[in-house]
Amino acid sequence: MLSVVIPCHNEQDVLPLLVLRLRAVLDATDEPYEVIVIDDASSDATASVLTECRTAWPELRVRRLGTNVGHQLALTAGLDVAVGDFVVTMDADLQDPPELIPDMLRSAREECVDVVYARRVDRSSDSVLKRQTAAVYYRLMRRAASVEVTEQAGDFRLLSRRVVEVLRALPERHRVYRLLIPWLGFPSAVVEHRRDPRAAGTTKYTVRRMGVLAANSVTSFSTAPLRLSTAVGLGTAICSLLMAAAVVVAYAVGRTVPGWASLAVGMLFLGAVQLLCLGVLGEYVGRIFQEVQRRPLYTVTQDTAADVSTPPEPRRAPR
Ligand code: UDP
Ligand code: MG
Repeated sequence: MLSVVIPCHNEQDVLPLLVLRLRAVLDATDEPYEVIVIDDASSDATASVLTECRTAWPELRVRRLGTNVGHQLALTAGLDVAVGDFVVTMDADLQDPPELIPDMLRSAREECVDVVYARRVDRSSDSVLKRQTAAVYYRLMRRAASVEVTEQAGDFRLLSRRVVEVLRALPERHRVYRLLIPWLGFPSAVVEHRRDPRAAGTTKYTVRRMGVLAANSVTSFSTAPLRLSTAVGLGTAICSLLMAAAVVVAYAVGRTVPGWASLAVGMLFLGAVQLLCLGVLGEYVGRIFQEVQRRPLYTVTQDTAADVSTPPEPRRAPR
C-alpha cells in the first residue's frame, strides 16, 4: 500500500487542483493507496474544501490540527498515522508534481532503496530570494551539520516503512526532516524533476519561517555555534592580556595618565562578547527546557479515520 502525506496551511485555492491531479496519478497506479492531508490549523476555507473533496474520494483522510505547528510537525502528524509500505511526503501547492510518484515507487522497488529524494534540477520558477537563501542553506548545512544532505531535495520524497518507523521513534521537537533522513543513512536514490511554480495561493514560508528552519537545522545538528563562542571568548581573552601588558609597560614608563578611551572601548567590547556567548548558551538552554517540558508534539482535533466519541489521546514523545 502507498500513503501520501500532504501538510497544508491555508491552501483553499490549490486543493481542488491538487486533488484532481493527484487522484488521476494514484488511480492509474493500480495499487491500494491512502492520502493523508494534514490541515495545519488553516484559517481559510481549507477545512470545508477538504470535507467536500472527501465526499467524492474515500481514500482521502483529513487530520486537522488544533494549532498551527508548522510544516515539519504537520508532516509528523501524517507520518504517525500513515500505514503504507511506502510513504510519499509532498507539498500541497503542486510545486512537487504528483506525476513523479510512480517514478519514485519504481525507483524504490528496482533499486531496493528506502529513501527516494525528488531533486529539483530547475528552480527558475522560485523567486531569486528563495533560490539564493536555499543555496546558502545547503552549503551551511554541509559545513555545520556534516550531514551529506542531498542538494536541492526538499520535503518531496518517498520513504519505506522501515524509515517511517525509525522517524516515529524520534522524540525530538525541533525536527528538520531534510537533515534527519540523510543522517539516518538508509540507502537512497534520487529522481529529478523541474520545480513548477505554485499552482495557486501564496507561499506559507515567510522569511521568518525560513529563519526558524535554518536555526533549527543548525542547533539540532551542531554545537558549532557554542564552539564559536568559546573561540571568540578565547580570542578576546588574549587581546585583553596584551592590553594588560601594555598598561603595565605604560605604568613602568611613567605615562600613567588614564587612557579613558581604551578602557571604555575594552569594557564595551568584553561586555558585548559576554552577551553574545550568553545568547548562544541561552539558545541551547531554551531547547533543553522545551524538551524537558515534554508537551505533546501536536493535538488532533479531528480525524476522519475513526468515529471519535472520546477525545483522542494527544501524542507524547516517549521518555
Ligand atoms: N505548510 C504547513 N504549515 C505551515 C506552513 C506551510 O503545513 O505552517 C505547508 C504548506 O501548505 C505547503 C508546504 O507546507 O503544503 C510548503 O509550504 P510552501 O509551499 O508555502 O513553501 P515554499 O514552497 O514556498 O517553500
Ligand atoms: Mg511551495
